[in-house]
Amino acid sequence: MKRIIIIGGGLAGLGAAYKITRATSEGHDIEFILFEKDRRLGGKIFTEIVPDPSGEGRFIVDGGPDCFLTEKPACHRIAKLTGIFDDELPTDDSRRRTWILSRGKLHQLPDGVMMFSPTKFIPFVTTGLFSWPGKIRMAIDLFIPPKKIAPGEFNDETLESFVVRRMGRECLDRLAEPLVGGVHASDPRQMSLAATFPRLLEMEQKYGSLMKGFISTRRKVEEMRRKYPVKPGEKPRTFFTSFVNGMQQLTDSMAGAAGRERMRTGLSVSSLQRTSEDGWRASLSDGSFINGDAVIVATESWTAEPLVRPHDEAIADALATIPTSSSATVSIAFNESEVGFDINAFGVLCPLVEGRALMAATYSSTKWPGRAPEGKVLLRGFVGGPHNQEILKRSDEELVQTVLAEFRDILGLNPNAKPLFSRIFRWHLGMPQYTLEHLDRVALIENRSAQIPGLALAGGCYRGVGVPNCIESGERAVSKVLGEWGIDLAEDHVEEKRYY
Ligand SMILES: Cc1cc2nc3c(=O)[nH]c(=O)nc-3n(C[C@H](O)[C@H](O)[C@H](O)COP(=O)(O)OP(=O)(O)OC[C@H]3O[C@@H](n4cnc5c(N)ncnc54)[C@H](O)[C@@H]3O)c2cc1C
Repeated sequence: MKRIIIIGGGLAGLGAAYKITRATSEGHDIEFILFEKDRRLGGKIFTEIVPDPSGEGRFIVDGGPDCFLTEKPACHRIAKLTGIFDDELPTDDSRRRTWILSRGKLHQLPDGVMMFSPTKFIPFVTTGLFSWPGKIRMAIDLFIPPKKIAPGEFNDETLESFVVRRMGRECLDRLAEPLVGGVHASDPRQMSLAATFPRLLEMEQKYGSLMKGFISTRRKVEEMRRKYPVKPGEKPRTFFTSFVNGMQQLTDSMAGAAGRERMRTGLSVSSLQRTSEDGWRASLSDGSFINGDAVIVATESWTAEPLVRPHDEAIADALATIPTSSSATVSIAFNESEVGFDINAFGVLCPLVEGRALMAATYSSTKWPGRAPEGKVLLRGFVGGPHNQEILKRSDEELVQTVLAEFRDILGLNPNAKPLFSRIFRWHLGMPQYTLEHLDRVALIENRSAQIPGLALAGGCYRGVGVPNCIESGERAVSKVLGEWGIDLAEDHVEEKRYY
C-alpha cells in the first residue's frame, strides 16, 4: 500500500484527501494521512454557530469565505458526491442591492453593471456614482482600439493599467477597485489580470471594447435563462452560492467523506526529508515522524517555503516571493428593531479612495436566508487588505469598536443599537496576491516540482484563490502523484455535469 502524506487541512488538503479516498474505493492500493496545524479542519473556511443570546434560534457566522461562484462546477460536484447538494443555498435575490460609498454618500450599484462595466444605458446615465466626465470617459471604451499584442507576446497587465486605459481612473477608483480588486483583497496597481481575470483580456481582444463584450455576455446569459428556465421546485440560480449551515458544511462533509480517522489536527509538519529516491519522511511538531511514498504540501505559500527549500531552492525562492496580505472579518449581531437603517441589501463596498477603515460590509442575514433568527440582523465587516495592514495591530475590542463606528457612519447604524454579540476572525497573511510575476512563478513551481517524484503543491496561492479552485488544486496534486505511479483516475460520476 502506498501512502500519501498531506500537509494542511484546508480546502486543497481536504480536496486531495477526498480524491484519494475515491481512488481507494476504485480499488487502488493507496491511503493518505493528513496533518493540520490548527485544532480544526477547514483552514480559511470557518463557520461558527452562535446561539441567540437573547432568545431562541441561532446565528450562522462565516469567518472566512461566505460563498463560492455558482458557475464553477467543483463545489457542486463535491456537494453531490458527499450528499449535501440539497443544502446549497442561493442568495435571496429579491433583496439584492449593493451600495457603493462615493464621496461620503451611498449609491446603489447601477443595474446591469457586470464586473466594472455598465451594460444598461438608463441606469448608467442616471447613477450618481460617477461624475459626468467619468461617465463619458467610461463610454469612450466603445471607441478605443484593443491593445496590440505582438505574435508570441504574453498579454498581461495590472488591473489599474487595464481599467484606466479602457475606462478611465474614475471607473477604477469608484467601481473596479472595490468590486474586482476587493475579491482578491488586492492592490490594483500590482494585480495581474492574466492570473486573476484573464477573461477581461480576452474580451478586449475579441470585442474591441469591454462594454461591447459585457453587453454580449449579458445577452447570452439572458438567452440561456430563457432557454433553460428554473423548473418548478428547483432552486433559483444566483451568482453566488453558500450552504444552509454555512461554508464549513462543505469542508465538514469533505472531511467526513474522506475519513477523519486519517486526519490529525493540532499537529504541524516541521520539516520534510527524502528517505530514498521515492520515499518521504515528515517530521512532526510533537517530535515524532511519519514515512510516506509521496507528499502533498497544501499549505499557504509562506509555510510551504521552508518545507520545500531542502528539496528545491528555486521553488522555495518562488514561494517566498508570493506576497500575501492579512485581513479580518468582524461579524456583529443586532435586534432588527434597533438597527435604524434599511437592511434590504447585500452590502456596501468602500473604495480605497474614500479612505475608510472598512473595506466592505455584508448584510449576511439579508443576503443568506437563515443566517439569523427572525427579528435579528447579522452584519459582517471586512478590514485589512494590502493598503491597511496597520489596522490589524488593533486589539479585538478596538477592531469591534472600529467596525461599529464605521457601520454607524457609513451604513447609518443607530448609535443606540446594542450588539448582541460580535465575532472576530483574523486571517494572518491569508490572501495571496497574484501580482504581474505570478504566472511565471507558478509555472516555475509546477515545472520544477514535476521533476521531483512524489512531491506536489496545492492551494489557493497558485491557480485561483476561489473555493472551487482550491478544491481542484488539491485534486490535481493527487493526479500528479498517482500519474507517477501509473494510476489514471476515472472522472467523478455525478448524475448531471451541467449544474447551472
Ligand atoms: C477573509 C477571507 C474571505 C474569503 N472569501 C472567499 C469567498 O467568499 N469565496 C471564495 O471563493 N474564496 C474566498 N476566500 C479565499 C479562500 O477562502 C481561500 O483561497 C481558500 O480557503 C484557501 O484554501 P487552501 O486550502 O489553499 O488554504 P488554507 O485554507 O489556508 O489551508 C491551509 C492549511 O494548512 C495548514 N498548515 C500550514 N502549515 C502547516 C504545517 N506545517 N503543518 C500542518 N498544517 C499546516 C494551515 O493551518 C491551514 O489550515 C476568502 C479568503 C479570506 C481570507
